[in-house]
Amino acid sequence: MSSVAINKGKNMQATVLESRQGQIWRKDDAPMVMECNKDSLAGAVSQRACVFCGSRVVLYPIADALHLVHGPIGCAVYTWDIRGALSSGPELHRLSFSTDMQERDVIFGGEKKLYRALVELIDRHAPAAAFVYSTCIVGIIGDDLEAVCRKVAAEKGIPVLPVQSEGFKGNKRAGYQAACNAMRRLVGTGETAGISPYSINILGDFNLAGELWLIRDYFARMGVEVVANITGDGRVADIQRAHGAALNVVQCSGATMELANMMESDYGIPAIRVSYFGIEDMAAALYAVAEFFPQEPAIMARTRELVREELAALLPELEQYRRDLQGKKAAIYVGGAFKAFSLVKAFRTIGMEVVMVGSQTGTAEDYRELAEITDPGTIIVDDSNPLELASFLQEKEVDIFVGGVKERPIAYKLGVAFCDHNHERKEMLAGFEGMLNFAREVHASVTSPVWRLLPRRAAS
Ligand code: SF4
Repeated sequence: MSSVAINKGKNMQATVLESRQGQIWRKDDAPMVMECNKDSLAGAVSQRACVFCGSRVVLYPIADALHLVHGPIGCAVYTWDIRGALSSGPELHRLSFSTDMQERDVIFGGEKKLYRALVELIDRHAPAAAFVYSTCIVGIIGDDLEAVCRKVAAEKGIPVLPVQSEGFKGNKRAGYQAACNAMRRLVGTGETAGISPYSINILGDFNLAGELWLIRDYFARMGVEVVANITGDGRVADIQRAHGAALNVVQCSGATMELANMMESDYGIPAIRVSYFGIEDMAAALYAVAEFFPQEPAIMARTRELVREELAALLPELEQYRRDLQGKKAAIYVGGAFKAFSLVKAFRTIGMEVVMVGSQTGTAEDYRELAEITDPGTIIVDDSNPLELASFLQEKEVDIFVGGVKERPIAYKLGVAFCDHNHERKEMLAGFEGMLNFAREVHASVTSPVWRLLPRRAAS
């Protein structure tokens, strides 16, 4: 595999594997040509997770379901309590169960072991449903997950759903698809009597730090009923009656837009894409929902009042941070590009410039939109790796890097401030209140005296 040097920065040069060049674009006068939505280059050490992990992150927050990983113990450990998603009730999701497949199971098949594990776990934990995840080795030996799940479902009287998420069969997006396929089988199996005509489902918020409860409160203040928060603080019974809602409101569209599309084709429920990050997008999300119910103008009136109140409460403090952060530089690398749009706008709100932005699973349309909203010279990158990211951070001399658990060490090794916007955070960054938390955290990290003691180092 050969590598080439591109666009030397002031203090370093960014080294990019030849086959990766098409997935990096610099916003300048050249027309945008961006390759994306393809399998990762072998040997490039992509930041992406596998298909199985993709399905785990989507289904994991369904808190009263049993989640059984059919495969070697390593697959379960890799995704153990993966998002730390909060639940207001049961916490069965925080346990990770595995069939712990051994050499003997690989040779003679793992179906009997899977059956025994399912029966034992359902008897012990009485879950509302069970999800059974397929891993690489299960795909290779060909265990019939569907048949085992059907048998146990009939015996135990609960939905037992196979998740066809063999790690090798594509990229992380294929895992999202597998998760949506499994949830599709739950939707439509519950009662919808008594659901308000002004009702929605919330898709794609994972309730990492309680933000779902804040968003639900906004909708309650607007007079809109939430039938199911499908991927955060989720409950099986709510998902079963989700087809009674009037609208699907989808955040993190890469992960759950497919389920919304399925519900549109199965039940005629339309969907809108929203983001709850940053004041602009948060307000736009609430207005988009209010506009969907024109027959009830009081919803729009209450929404205007809500946005007015929330902005009045946060703008004075935000202005203080803006003064200190004016002109500082940020880099963003996240799973789905939709979050990146909001982050670009959120940094602008606090006076900062985004000089690099990328995602693991963005589409051509996503990258076109990123190109539109970013400043000249910004690096836009798809499915990146640690070496590239480290080079870009140094070249652009960024003050803060925003990413997830795998990006944190890249920043700290270089002596660059970091903001976790994914799995590990314990403070909510969504909603109006979340924007204030975000600004506080960015301000504290960027202005910390620690960076004076830790000179920026060259990437090794
Ligand atoms: S499913 Fe495959 S790629 Fe994913 S963690 Fe397990 S072994 Fe690794």
